Amino acid sequence: MVIDISRLTNNKPIKINSQMTIGSIGLNLEKSNPVLDIKGNISKQDNIFFINVRVSSILSFLCDFCLKPLDFKVDFSIDEKFIKKIGEDKKKVDKEISENDILWIDENSISITPLCIANILECVPMQTLCNKNCKGMCYICGTNLNDDSCTCKQEKNTDSRFDILKSLKFQNN
Ligand SMILES: [Zn+2]
Ligand SMILES: [Zn+2]
Repeated sequence: MVIDISRLTNNKPIKINSQMTIGSIGLNLEKSNPVLDIKGNISKQDNIFFINVRVSSILSFLCDFCLKPLDFKVDFSIDEKFIKKIGEDKKKVDKEISENDILWIDENSISITPLCIANILECVPMQTLCNKNCKGMCYICGTNLNDDSCTCKQEKNTDSRFDILKSLKFQNN
């Protein structure tokens, strides 16, 4: 989402209440293009812009093991300062940027999309499971082993190619 900052005046915050769609951002999402709710405000003090927004959404994932759809709630705040580099202030601004944790802009707009994506990637676990004890899916017949059982497993256990493994002994020092 790109926020137009050209009409902001000092100390008069503007409310933000909108929705933004992002791409699938490399996650194992069931429904791509999740919609984010963005609420908060943006304010300005000279050439410094403050963005305080709350971002929330429900992402629909597929369980990594059994492929069952599952919802994952994301909810985070973006609380950032942006500084605009203007003319002779540039040097002063550069100093401020390096000394403080400030992002800079050189146009009349601020895009919060990269911040939203970074936050989402940070709160989503590496592995998305419907349940930490998920039994997964039978890789032979596709049965969801949380809901049902199948006979493939027995066949796999009696597979003679694996018999050699049973006779192996592992030594623990
Ligand atoms: Zn699962
Ligand atoms: Zn099976």
